Amino acid sequence: MSQLISIVLPVFNEEPGIQATIDTLLNFTEQQKEDYELIFVDDGSKDKSVKIIKHAIELHSNIKLVEFSRNFGHQLAITAGLQYTSGDAVVVMDADLQDPPEVIPQMIEKWHEGYDIVYGKRMQRDGETVFKKFTAAMFYRTFKHLATIDMPLDTGDFRLMNKRAVKQLQKLHEQDPFVRGQVTWIGFKQTSVKYHRQERIAGETKYPLSKMIKLALDGITSFSMKPLQFANIFSVVPIVSGVFYLGYLFATGRYTASSVGMTILLFTLGLLLLSVGILGSYLGRVLDQVNDRPRFIVSETEGFQERNKGIHHLDARQMRS
Ligand code: UDP
Ligand code: MG
Repeated sequence: MSQLISIVLPVFNEEPGIQATIDTLLNFTEQQKEDYELIFVDDGSKDKSVKIIKHAIELHSNIKLVEFSRNFGHQLAITAGLQYTSGDAVVVMDADLQDPPEVIPQMIEKWHEGYDIVYGKRMQRDGETVFKKFTAAMFYRTFKHLATIDMPLDTGDFRLMNKRAVKQLQKLHEQDPFVRGQVTWIGFKQTSVKYHRQERIAGETKYPLSKMIKLALDGITSFSMKPLQFANIFSVVPIVSGVFYLGYLFATGRYTASSVGMTILLFTLGLLLLSVGILGSYLGRVLDQVNDRPRFIVSETEGFQERNKGIHHLDARQMRS
């Protein structure tokens, strides 16, 4: 019996390009010896993305759809998609063809060699702004210094995972998951294949600066405690400089340097607010976890076989081991 590969594709307002993605993937999968299922996770699209996918489901039995009740974000769409897979291996990729399907056979080859996880390493990124490339490069390098996990550089969410890796990921239940960090965290045998990240086939990026910042903060606050200690380090600076300044005032007899005093005050206030901000970011994460809401709500599924439906409706929370 041939192996089944599940492809998980998060979708958010991809109307202009989704048909091309479906056609390209169907064309690709037909030429492969493995069987494929395409699981689209609609993350609350407001355009015709869902309609186009549903139409494709009528024509092709290997296409499936998980529909969120609203936009819960890319990382949760991936997380949800993983819960619905039944393949021997799972591939996660963008629904805009930025991650070329031609790389999948190379990933499968590595998997057959005995690797559990094969991630795509970007050698080149087309059609992305200098700002995005620069901030991404900065983030990954900073993250490396801060985090307790050794996440490979220049990787996104394009990767293949085998069944046992997916099973472990399904057990994690962070409210705001940073999936690529989680994948590194679970361990197993991991390797990479290099690829050339393409330009988006259509539409705009669905990652505005605000979402990029949220992703970066989720990554750092879920895999590093170091920023919490910054508050301690920062407090040393104003204290030490305050003491020296006082010594200087007494030594020189200049007691009325109000402008310098003001500078120190502002400096101290800035550090104080920054420290509170850092605490707040972590506290927010704790609060999220304490609230213990389901992480996402699925409003509808289509294309899955009846017998599979029941279990898939369970949220990860109910599946906890
Ligand atoms: N996406 C999503 N929810 C969001 C934002 C994006 O499901 O809130 C999807 C999007 O449709 C795409 C993938 O996640 O398939 C990656 O987003 P995008 O291509 O916009 O990011 P970029 O490649 O520009 O970093
Ligand atoms: Mg993309």
